[in-house]
Amino acid sequence: MKPRVAFFDFSCCEGCQLCAIDLTTEQLLDLLAVVDIVEFREAISDKSDQYDIAIVEGSITRDSDIPRLQKIRDTAKIVVALGACSMICGINALKNFQTKEEYQKDVYPEDPTKYETTTARAINEIVKVDAFIPGCPIDTYEFLRVVKNLVLGKNPDIPEYPVCVECKRNENICVYEKGIQCLGPVIRAGCNARCPSNGGYCFGCRGIIPEPNLHSQQDIMQKYNLTFAQMLEKFKLFLQRNKEVFPDGK
Ligand code: SF4
Ligand code: SF4
Ligand code: SF4
Repeated sequence: MKPRVAFFDFSCCEGCQLCAIDLTTEQLLDLLAVVDIVEFREAISDKSDQYDIAIVEGSITRDSDIPRLQKIRDTAKIVVALGACSMICGINALKNFQTKEEYQKDVYPEDPTKYETTTARAINEIVKVDAFIPGCPIDTYEFLRVVKNLVLGKNPDIPEYPVCVECKRNENICVYEKGIQCLGPVIRAGCNARCPSNGGYCFGCRGIIPEPNLHSQQDIMQKYNLTFAQMLEKFKLFLQRNKEVFPDGK
């Protein structure tokens, strides 16, 4: 029997699930050759309480989300965090820079306490996560590779080196030469340096690498007359749940 895969979502824009179904016919057949998809709200109406791999998108932003997430964890053999919201809290972490009273009032000024809400958290702050697929949004090819590797019992094969490696491979001129800050030296590669290769800069959506060389990032900032504090302010969206960078993060 093929492993059964179910998709679940919490607070997010569901863009990562859209990427996951943005497969070519050939890729979809490739995927369906190795798994049975038993629940995927964006693609099929079937539901199931029995699955082997749970792919979970979104952050936990309500206490009432927790029992549902725990049930998913209890049922699945493998839990995969899909995308930045699930893996590192992503854009949902923005609310954590405000007090509860402030964000309730900002979002629902007419009736601030109408909806349940609390501090946003990544799913690994609540349950054990076995694998993750980084990015905001994820990369469809990486999604396919990770799922196939998990089914085969192999390492998901997510890069642990920084975006700069791919950026240099693409022969880009470093954006620091243009006076622009970039998180490439400390952010996980795997996106083929998508942003600096297309006129932008890395803002950290794939999360920080294990054992990042923050001193090296600091040295680069100093070389270009930029401060580390400026960088933290600019990039707190995707870094703020990272205790190594923001030890006092909420
Ligand atoms: S990680 Fe980005 S694209 Fe994915 S669900 Fe969250 S906000 Fe949407
Ligand atoms: S542009 Fe960013 S990712 Fe590219 S080499 Fe410079 S710091 Fe690294
Ligand atoms: S370059 Fe940085 S911000 Fe852009 S997709 Fe890659 S990790 Fe995300």
